[in-house]
Amino acid sequence: MTTKKIVIAGGGTAGWMTAAYLQASLGDKVSVTLVESDAIATIGVGEATFSTIRHFFSYIGLEEQEWMPACNATYKLGIRFADWRAPGHDFYHPFERPAVIDGFTLAEWWLRCRPSPRFDRDCFVIANMCDAMRSPHTLDGQLFEMREDALAAGQRTTMSEQDTQYPYAYHFDASLLAVLLMRLATGRGVHRVVDSIVECRRDERGIAGLVTKEHGTITGDLYVDCTGFRGLLINRALEEPFISFQNVLPNDRAVALRVPADIERDGIRPYTTATARDAGWIWTIPLYGRDGMGYVYAGDYCTPEEAERTLRDFAGPKAADLEANHIRMRIGRSRSSWVGNCVAIGLSSGFVEPLESTGIFFIQHGIEQLVKHFPDEEFDARLVDHYNQVVARCIDGICEFLVLHYYAAARTDNAYWRATKERELPGDLAERFRLWQSKLPDADSIYPYYHGFEPYSYVAMIMGLGGVPVRQRPVIDLLSSRAADMEFARIKQRVSRFTTELPSQLSYIGHLHQPKANGGPMSA
Ligand SMILES: Cc1cc2nc3c(=O)[nH]c(=O)nc-3n(C[C@H](O)[C@H](O)[C@H](O)COP(=O)(O)OP(=O)(O)OC[C@H]3O[C@@H](n4cnc5c(N)ncnc54)[C@H](O)[C@@H]3O)c2cc1C
Repeated sequence: MTTKKIVIAGGGTAGWMTAAYLQASLGDKVSVTLVESDAIATIGVGEATFSTIRHFFSYIGLEEQEWMPACNATYKLGIRFADWRAPGHDFYHPFERPAVIDGFTLAEWWLRCRPSPRFDRDCFVIANMCDAMRSPHTLDGQLFEMREDALAAGQRTTMSEQDTQYPYAYHFDASLLAVLLMRLATGRGVHRVVDSIVECRRDERGIAGLVTKEHGTITGDLYVDCTGFRGLLINRALEEPFISFQNVLPNDRAVALRVPADIERDGIRPYTTATARDAGWIWTIPLYGRDGMGYVYAGDYCTPEEAERTLRDFAGPKAADLEANHIRMRIGRSRSSWVGNCVAIGLSSGFVEPLESTGIFFIQHGIEQLVKHFPDEEFDARLVDHYNQVVARCIDGICEFLVLHYYAAARTDNAYWRATKERELPGDLAERFRLWQSKLPDADSIYPYYHGFEPYSYVAMIMGLGGVPVRQRPVIDLLSSRAADMEFARIKQRVSRFTTELPSQLSYIGHLHQPKANGGPMSA
């Protein structure tokens, strides 16, 4: 028997991910209705993801060979940061936790041993696989290095089961994914209403009903606000304040292009690129057959026309006739994402700029936490408060991590980049930076609550960005470096093996696109 009626407002990535997940999780114990307007567009960007995303697909029961070709998806092994230190310089932030040798992370040993001037290439196998544009799978579908937690077929897991750093995430066409999830969810019983919500009725529980243009008033026990930056239910109807992060993260606009790519000629890069520019940075997200590109910038330093010119110059002649999509971004979070009987998920809950591809990660985190805190008729305030704490901490932690990117970048060549060093730092970040100069970030010194990023990510960024001097811990000089030297050599051997044995991302993804009868690869 149905015990809960859930009404989801909004059918972007957040709405359909939520619908598919709640259906997969709670099955026929709940009824799910999703209302989306065909007159109000989705944000239409959001194509790079974080490595926890595989738990989402496994949870709803979608296999790579099924959904990846349908969404023009590719693998993402990390992010390449270009020009953040100086023009022409680049480094990777890979999905790879480095070894710990005699109690010290390999990064600490690198400061002493320095096998080459390139920290990322010496310490991370994946940085080299990115350079070589390899696939993380062999053609029979095996992961390049089996991990203890590699997903067994049919196994359902959540982020909290991600004990080791899984080596990849995905790039995909977000609008194709929303369609795929819509078909999957409606096929499994989610009720879809295409209509515009013209009014949100309120009562003492929070939301009493959503009044639509043509389908009357839709009522439920629990409402999920997935209406994007509008925050129709959470901010407008329930008047929950929005806390802006613009004082610490000033980029508030973006302009995007969908640029055709000649993959047969150029291959497919298995990483997102974030290229620093005069008033922000440009993303390049390689999909199967096109690149998503966009300039994220601060409106205080650059006009939309200048931004579009910068992006077009970057993209080159193939972008000449393409239409640009200009987007205003609301950076920050709702003070509480759950108020009364309404939970905001997606952009209505919170958003920081897409520098570490965390928008969809926030959605996944919000949904998983909603299931963990799922209410009965009482809406226990302790559960609601805890949900709000967990969600707010996650967003705040990522805000801190992104501020680090700007503060630690060596660039100071114009007013925009100089201001990144002068602006106030959020939370305890200033104090953390003082410590990190003598002792690289570790579990005891990074933002303490779950926000997806581990100490090695902080280390990768500080070492790559080059604007904050770090020194080797004195004790490392007193220890034998033999084991560390062996680990650096082992990394070189693995790189040589993987770059020889693994297919290119183009070959592997091309193979995925073949009909199954022709022997497409097995899913990992
Ligand atoms: C510039 C930019 C780049 C990004 N890049 C990334 C990235 O690389 N990786 C990543 O993970 N995330 C990224 N994101 C975030 C990502 O795009 C979003 O998290 C994701 O698209 C979810 O959006 P949403 O579903 O919350 O909102 P939207 O896509 O805005 O969807 C809102 C939905 O609500 C509906 N709606 C609104 N009002 C009404 C109404 N009155 N009646 C009925 N329906 C209504 C709309 O029709 C729509 O269906 C990026 C975001 C921006 C702005």
